[in-house]
Amino acid sequence: MPLALFDLDGTLVDRQSALDDAVSCLCRSRALPTGAEQWLRTELADRATAEDFARLREVFGLEAPAADLWQEYVDLMAAAVTCRPAVLEGLARLRAAAWAIGVITNGAGDIQRAKLAGTGLDGLVHGVAASGDLEIRKPDRRLFELGATRCGVSLADGGWMVGDNPTGDIGGGHRAGLRTIWLRGRPWPDGLPAAHHVVDDVTDAITILLAETE
Ligand SMILES: [Mg+2]
Repeated sequence: MPLALFDLDGTLVDRQSALDDAVSCLCRSRALPTGAEQWLRTELADRATAEDFARLREVFGLEAPAADLWQEYVDLMAAAVTCRPAVLEGLARLRAAAWAIGVITNGAGDIQRAKLAGTGLDGLVHGVAASGDLEIRKPDRRLFELGATRCGVSLADGGWMVGDNPTGDIGGGHRAGLRTIWLRGRPWPDGLPAAHHVVDDVTDAITILLAETE
């Protein structure tokens, strides 16, 4: 069973637009003070954890418990995040072609699982490994191993990694012995070996994978 591992944020889903929506909604619903919206956009730009909301509460002297603020943010993100139908269809075609599909993501387990459920991706992937559950982050090989194991296959048998982060996804994928497809967008660090393929859209990556098993 060939293995395809995908990054989640910025690869299978558009985290940025969901973040914009969720932060605006949260600030309105909690009537947060001026400055909180910009603070959240900056602090949550790459990822969000429950601790960010403990800091928000302290910085702005909020009364609401941090756990409540975090849970509301998780619910808003799960509602706001979308996966394009063409991506869901592509993954369904990979499944039909007997690929094992995994998601490995640097993020808190609860919010990443809520996003997978909210987009319908949870019904299409065989296994998920979220860094927040384990204190292991990409590019650490162990997160790739866990993703493969949760798909019921061995990383030693090889496979593919698709993602937008040069160091975490592509560098990590190489070190895990995988072939790689990079979704271009971020600057490419000096000295990092090139990805096997470079695409503009994750559906192009899926097309490359499908051609492998034709
Ligand atoms: Mg990403």
